[in-house]
Amino acid sequence: MSRLLLALLVAFGLATGCTRPTAEPSAPTEPAVATPQPRKTATVRPGYQRPLLVDVHGHVSIYGVWRIERILADVGIGAIINLSGGSGRGDGRAWILSRVLAERLDGRVLNFVNVDWQGCCDPAWGAREAARIRRAVEEFDFRGLKISKALGLGVRDSEGTLVAVDDPRIDPLWRAAGELGIPVAIHIADPKAFWLPPTADNERYAELSVHPSWSWYDRGVPAWGAMLDAGERLFARHPKTTFIAVHFGNAAEEPARVEKMLQRLPNVWIDISARVGEFGRHPPATIRAFFERFSDRILFGTDIGIGDDYLMLGSNGAEIPEMKDVVPFYDAHFRYLEGDQRQIDHPSPIQGNWKVDAIALPDAILDKVYRGNAVRLFDLDPETLKPRPRRPASPPGATPTP
Ligand SMILES: [Zn+2]
Repeated sequence: MSRLLLALLVAFGLATGCTRPTAEPSAPTEPAVATPQPRKTATVRPGYQRPLLVDVHGHVSIYGVWRIERILADVGIGAIINLSGGSGRGDGRAWILSRVLAERLDGRVLNFVNVDWQGCCDPAWGAREAARIRRAVEEFDFRGLKISKALGLGVRDSEGTLVAVDDPRIDPLWRAAGELGIPVAIHIADPKAFWLPPTADNERYAELSVHPSWSWYDRGVPAWGAMLDAGERLFARHPKTTFIAVHFGNAAEEPARVEKMLQRLPNVWIDISARVGEFGRHPPATIRAFFERFSDRILFGTDIGIGDDYLMLGSNGAEIPEMKDVVPFYDAHFRYLEGDQRQIDHPSPIQGNWKVDAIALPDAILDKVYRGNAVRLFDLDPETLKPRPRRPASPPGATPTP
């Protein structure tokens, strides 16, 4: 056990025998992670050598550490962003385990902290959560803040009112992220079809019938477009905070809307996770032009979930995928981005029974999307793709401790 890990466990009373055993794997005591290499096989475009990738949209846990390590090597991923680092609620165990995971994988997992919505949005809540975020970053080396779609769709204040995405009572969190220099990955709303009746003629019926709770039809939530408008007001109000609007800017159905947003708001980036099937329905020339235009702010991500006996590949149907499905899942992304074939499968067929046309991005743009943009945003070493030590964002002594 490393000294840092031991110190963390002791600090949180987890190594004293007073709690149930931790999830520390019976592993080699120091990180012994093979260095992932760019994958040589399955090149879509003759002569193109895909670089080592950064997947900016994962939900991974220490319980899946062996699987994560294997997936990094099998796919050729140098770093993965874990958007499920935990809120630090209660005893903070989730943060400790996230930190242990990052350490165990030699820095190839970068954790994002989550928010504890309990008590939102009483006056003390914003300050409390902002302080927690600061602590997660400064003491546990978290590298970003992730906001789930619960904001806008489920979080209610003490009056029982649904909290809007741009509610000013949440501003302390966005300000803290800006001051700390960490990006905020934010999921707003959901696929547009989830607002329509979940009946057989809904184009996402297959997915909605497996996950009926994902339907927002007649559930008293704001309209799809109204939620996205609220998100844009929020981004505009906090120009010093960098936002990653996940899932193709949360609006893969309307690339023109995303285009306007990116043009207007230079503090907004997007990832492509779990939406290749959706934006891939638009003419390939349109999407290729979009990538060319915003090539500096588009990030490769997949929405992969990795647990002990659990995998999620963008979105799951009734059956949980297996390890053998992971490489084909990534290959479907590569075929779309690199190739020029028409009417190919998209990565998560449960998200819609249709085909997409590949967009054959130029090498230089692929390099930015696959790794270069993430290197800049997360301050990674361009060679190893491991994060550089974090630079303190504020002078010592200026940091409030909770
Ligand atoms: Zn996700």
